[in-house]
Amino acid sequence: MTSADIISLINPIIDPDLDRSLGALGAIHNVEVDGAHVRVYLDVVQPLHTIARRLDLACTTAIHASYPSATVEIFVRESGISERTHPALSTIKNLVAVASGKGGVGKSTIAANLAVALAQQGAAVGLLDADVYGPSQPTMFGLAGETMRAEKDDAGRIRGYPNEHYGVAVASIGFVMQRDQAAILRGPMLAGYFTTLVEQIMWGELDYLVFDLPPGTGDIQLTLTQKIPLTGAVVVTTPQEIALADVRRSIQMFRKVNVDVLGVIENMSYFVPPDMPDRRYHIFGEGGGAAVAAEYDVPLLGQVPIDARIRSGGDEGLPFVLDPERPDLGDAFRAIASNVVRQVRRHNASAADAHVQISL
Ligand code: ADP
Repeated sequence: MTSADIISLINPIIDPDLDRSLGALGAIHNVEVDGAHVRVYLDVVQPLHTIARRLDLACTTAIHASYPSATVEIFVRESGISERTHPALSTIKNLVAVASGKGGVGKSTIAANLAVALAQQGAAVGLLDADVYGPSQPTMFGLAGETMRAEKDDAGRIRGYPNEHYGVAVASIGFVMQRDQAAILRGPMLAGYFTTLVEQIMWGELDYLVFDLPPGTGDIQLTLTQKIPLTGAVVVTTPQEIALADVRRSIQMFRKVNVDVLGVIENMSYFVPPDMPDRRYHIFGEGGGAAVAAEYDVPLLGQVPIDARIRSGGDEGLPFVLDPERPDLGDAFRAIASNVVRQVRRHNASAADAHVQISL
């Protein structure tokens, strides 16, 4: 058994998010064979521990198929692509905006649960509530009434510290200003205020910062998406035509400013009566999210049902992915979060490819 033998066994293993083999991805950094002991060193784009575990299992299985008595150790290292030029955000690997064309479609609910689901997968996660018109993350995280701890650093700059709950660092405009105060400020002024605020927050090292944008496609959304270096955007909609018209505007806005649309999440897709679990009622119509995703050639990342527990979880400050009584809702949403991760990894893998081409 030589390292070349091992490489030929694991070269063809496919990274399922990227649909490419470890060989094609250049992910096999080194292989050491020491008697019956094998050490494989992988370089992988954005390995959450779930992704690392999946590749570990695939490699070990492939090696054991030919060498059943080998002992195998797999070391997964993260290959970096982070080149954030924004000094205040340089410690953040991925910035994912959650957006919607209009209010009330469940954007904040999705943003909160996406952040918690990513944290459950072992990622370091922050949530930035930029919904200046109606910051709801303090309530959704059970942090209503909290303020943000702030201090002056040695250079006299104000530094704010996010509040931590459910494994997510949360910063919200709701921790700094009252709802009615935000309503007095207007578009560009508010965006200016907000970007200053973003620069003052001490996030530390994060794998993901989920960015709950204000609904709509006006000046403030445009300014924020231009000023903050986003990895991509997830667009939330409900299935009916009136929401889809707004979602089209939202996708077009991101395309205009060259922000990758990672996909569409359809919320309030259907209702399952608790006493008739075999029935599905499409209250707001059917297929709208899939149609708009196809129209813009972006993935439909998933569908979330209408459920009273989702609403009550939001009001009571318990994101539904943590609801002990509804693991079904949590599991379905964790699959959606994994689809978001897949799109982020694809984005980063193609950014890394483009970078290699440029430096050649
Ligand atoms: P947005 O951020 O788009 O304005 P929110 O996330 O604040 O929307 O949701 C609006 C209201 O709808 C909240 O009361 C929330 O709890 C509720 N809601 C959101 N998604 C669902 C759902 N899938 N099922 C039931 N209620 C939901």
